[in-house]
Amino acid sequence: MRIPIIAGNWKMNKTVAESVAFVNQIKDHLPATDQVQTALAAPALSLVPMVQAASGSPLKIMAENCYFEDAGAFTGEVSPHALYQAGVHHVILGHSERRKIFGEDDEMINKKVVAALRNGLCPIVCCDDTMGRRVANDDKIHWVVGRILADLKGLTTDEIRKVTVAYEPDWAIGSGQSADPSQAEEGCYLIRQTICDMYGDDVANDVRILYGGSVTPDNVSALMAKNDIDGVLVGSDSLDPETFLKIVNH
Ligand code: PEP
Repeated sequence: MRIPIIAGNWKMNKTVAESVAFVNQIKDHLPATDQVQTALAAPALSLVPMVQAASGSPLKIMAENCYFEDAGAFTGEVSPHALYQAGVHHVILGHSERRKIFGEDDEMINKKVVAALRNGLCPIVCCDDTMGRRVANDDKIHWVVGRILADLKGLTTDEIRKVTVAYEPDWAIGSGQSADPSQAEEGCYLIRQTICDMYGDDVANDVRILYGGSVTPDNVSALMAKNDIDGVLVGSDSLDPETFLKIVNH
C-alpha cells in the first residue's frame, strides 16, 4: 500500500522565527504517519531549527534543493551529506523554478538525485509539463516520459523505491488554476507507466506520485481520490498554517 504524502513547498518565504512558529502551531494536529505523511520544504536557513521543533512529531522537514557533490569548493551550494547529518532526510529536486530560473537541466537533476540517494536522502523529483507541448504534441515522445527517463536514469531498484515523483504542470503552478483531477491523473498515470517500463510493475506500484499545482482545501480530496495520485505538493496554500492543516486533514 502506498501511504499518501502531503508536502508543502514554501519556496523563498518565511524567516527562521516564522518557520519555527509554524511548526509549533501544526505539529500536534497532524494525522498518524501510517495514514498520511506530512512534510514541509523550507529555505535552507530554517531547516535545522525546524527539525528541532518537529522532533517527536509526525512532521518531516525537507530541503528545497541540494548540490550533487558532498563537499568542496562550491560556494553557496547546499551539501546533501550535511543535510542528512542535520536530520533533513528529504529533498525536492528539479522544481520547475529551479529549471526555469536557475537553468537546471535533466543531466544536473539526475546527478542531484544520485547524490541525494547516495547520502541517504529521499528525493521528491518534480516533473513539469506545459500546455503548449501538450497541444502541439511536438515531441517525439511525450515530454513527461522524457523527463522521467532522464531524471531517474541509472537508479537501482532499491533506489527508485526511495524516490517520490511530483507531476507539476507549469501552467497550474502558482496560477490558481489547478489541473482538473482527470488531467492530473493522466500525468501521474503516464509517469507510473514510464517507471513500469523502466523497472517493472511491482516497483511502479510502490513508487509514490504526487500532483502539484494550485492545490487548495477545496480541490485536494478530488485530486487524491484518483488511482495514481498518492498525495500533493502544495505551494501557496502551505504558507498559512490553518489552510495547510485543512489540506492535510481534508
Ligand atoms: C509548487 O510550487 O510546487 C506549487 C505546487 O505551487 P502552488 O501550489 O502555489 O501552485
